[in-house]
Amino acid sequence: MMADMLGRAWLWAAEKPWVHKTVTQGRLTEPVVKRFIAGNELEDAVRVIKELNSRSIGGILDLLGEGVTDADGAQAAADDYLIAVKRIEETGIDTTISVKLTQLGLAFDKGQCIDHLRRIAAEATAIDAGVEIDMEQSGYVLDTLDVYRVLQTDFPGLRIAVQAYLRRTPVDLQTFASVRPKVRLVKGAYAEPEELAFQKQKEIDAQYKFLTEWLFEKGTDPAMATHHSDLLAHAKTTAERTGAGKEDFEVQMLYGVRRDLQEQLAKEGYRVRVYVPYGVAWYPYLMRRIAERPANLAFFLRALARG
Ligand SMILES: Cc1cc2nc3c(=O)[nH]c(=O)nc-3n(C[C@H](O)[C@H](O)[C@H](O)COP(=O)(O)OP(=O)(O)OC[C@H]3O[C@@H](n4cnc5c(N)ncnc54)[C@H](O)[C@@H]3O)c2cc1C
Repeated sequence: MMADMLGRAWLWAAEKPWVHKTVTQGRLTEPVVKRFIAGNELEDAVRVIKELNSRSIGGILDLLGEGVTDADGAQAAADDYLIAVKRIEETGIDTTISVKLTQLGLAFDKGQCIDHLRRIAAEATAIDAGVEIDMEQSGYVLDTLDVYRVLQTDFPGLRIAVQAYLRRTPVDLQTFASVRPKVRLVKGAYAEPEELAFQKQKEIDAQYKFLTEWLFEKGTDPAMATHHSDLLAHAKTTAERTGAGKEDFEVQMLYGVRRDLQEQLAKEGYRVRVYVPYGVAWYPYLMRRIAERPANLAFFLRALARG
């Protein structure tokens, strides 16, 4: 998980143009990119999801891109998502789609962002595919929750990601208690200041467990998005305590991470979905994956040095 100092330093460095250039031009980083990203094209992600489906694992389709700064860019992303929905219908793959709201214009036009997401949700709902909203940096949390609040009434199947590392999350969730929100619970992947986010693993895990219990008691179909065995064990215990069966919650993991555990849980009869990113705008996503794990960072830096 990102919260340690090394990870935060890496995310800081990743924003420097020379690091961006070195990484994106270095061919030796290709194996690392391939590990975490399905490929540049929608068809790459479709292929990966078909393969996951053959192992009884669902997909979460993610078109890479974030921080869009103009209306044309937001429109293009929305159009690409609509194409993806059509492709889901044609292929019959079992997948949801996940969107970052800054990709749909949240940073400069919340109304437009809502319109885009409404269209995507309408088309996806018509073919019975779920839509999930990623949670981004803390500066976007309130607006992201607002968009969810607006659309949740018309699309109760929408799923929203919330971050356990943010101190505010229990209070935010409580404001949704009356609608029994459908949530993806994550630890949180961005570099956030101490005033806003727990930094210590122990504190983040404690809040993750608290929120897990809240979601089993007051949410709908909770999704535990983690690879952390202790947190997954706690989710299973909470499920038993609250009378939820294996079918009543979901485990979500990332493409390229803990494939063994994904398979094992699916074989045990748990509902498992894997987040499958595709597209050319992979840089910030990959930097977060590198930051999450010192071993990734060491491997990546060695590859960069060779390149
Ligand atoms: C489906 C899904 C959706 C997500 N959506 C969001 C979102 O919307 N917003 C957000 O802020 N964050 C999101 N995240 C990322 C999340 O916040 C964490 O940063 C990430 O999941 C790592 O934390 P962890 O809970 O797996 O626990 P950790 O304690 O970090 O990891 C547990 C174990 O998993 C393995 N592992 C974890 N990460 C990696 C990695 N990168 N490479 C290799 N092995 C690894 C290691 O074996 C590690 O020991 C999402 C994660 C998942 C699984």
